[in-house]
Amino acid sequence: MATKIVSTPEKLYECEVKRRRVRAGGSGYEPFWKVKTLADALLDGDTEFRCKDCHGPLKLSRRHTVGVLSHVEHKLKSDSEHCVSGVRFHQATDGRQHTLSATPVV
Ligand SMILES: [Zn+2]
Repeated sequence: MATKIVSTPEKLYECEVKRRRVRAGGSGYEPFWKVKTLADALLDGDTEFRCKDCHGPLKLSRRHTVGVLSHVEHKLKSDSEHCVSGVRFHQATDGRQHTLSATPVV
């Protein structure tokens, strides 16, 4: 019997969000990325997200149903294929290595 490969939707619940902090020396602010759960990020009103593992852009799926968590997924298929947290990466059987996104969010 042939094994059917089921394509599982990608659901990530952790991401990096862009924050600002006071620059060392106190002259102005500098942006930095902070790992957060998506639930916390939405609660805090964060608007800029990226994958914590490959730094690629993410697509937000916001859920308003009680008991259903919002999640993010890689916006680009190529990121999902080469990121250690990507679904397609784990489905690949060629022993590939994790790589950073070719189009990282900076
Ligand atoms: Zn990634």
